Amino acid sequence: GRRWHQSWGELKNNGCNLNYEAEHSNLEMCEHHPGYPVFHEGLKYWTCCTKKTTDFTEFLEQAGCSTGRHCWIKLDTKKVESCKYDWHQTGTHVCIAVYAKLTDPVNTYVEANPIRLNANIVFGEAEMFTLDIELIGLIDVSQSSVTLAASKVEIKLRKAEPAKWRTLNIERKVKETKDKEEKKDDEELEQRVDAVDLSDI
Ligand SMILES: [Zn+2]
Ligand SMILES: [Zn+2]
Repeated sequence: GRRWHQSWGELKNNGCNLNYEAEHSNLEMCEHHPGYPVFHEGLKYWTCCTKKTTDFTEFLEQAGCSTGRHCWIKLDTKKVESCKYDWHQTGTHVCIAVYAKLTDPVNTYVEANPIRLNANIVFGEAEMFTLDIELIGLIDVSQSSVTLAASKVEIKLRKAEPAKWRTLNIERKVKETKDKEEKKDDEELEQRVDAVDLSDI
């Protein structure tokens, strides 16, 4: 699987490729995109310079169109416990909308396997919300997708079976102590986790 984050150290201006090293880093100009990312009908672009591309890597590598001061913020300082989200379903899909504004497309990543969803969404002023749930039904990861919009993140999960889901996830109130064999199973499952590839949007 592919992991969709590059750096957990700092959250930078969109499109900025420099890492903070020392005080002198602040003296260098920051080339960045002041706009926000739009992913629409396979096209990806920044609202500031609107150079459209279908390739996610190419999109991320577009040089910043504006210069200014660098923005270095430690990500782990603002982990938010909750973020508003809801879900609905159709015959074939389960759609989850997480209402996170100004999502950071570089640091946000979503992983899924047929029974689990793990979304780490970085948004706003370096806030991170994690939605890690065990799904009530099976999904087909290869046909699922993630869309980052200006005001929300939409996760579209393809149902593996057309059954109606009575709820989204399994609630586990108490974590039970696992014996060795169960732990081993968990590790194997972990290795099979496939990341939802954002470049396929
Ligand atoms: Zn731009
Ligand atoms: Zn910068």
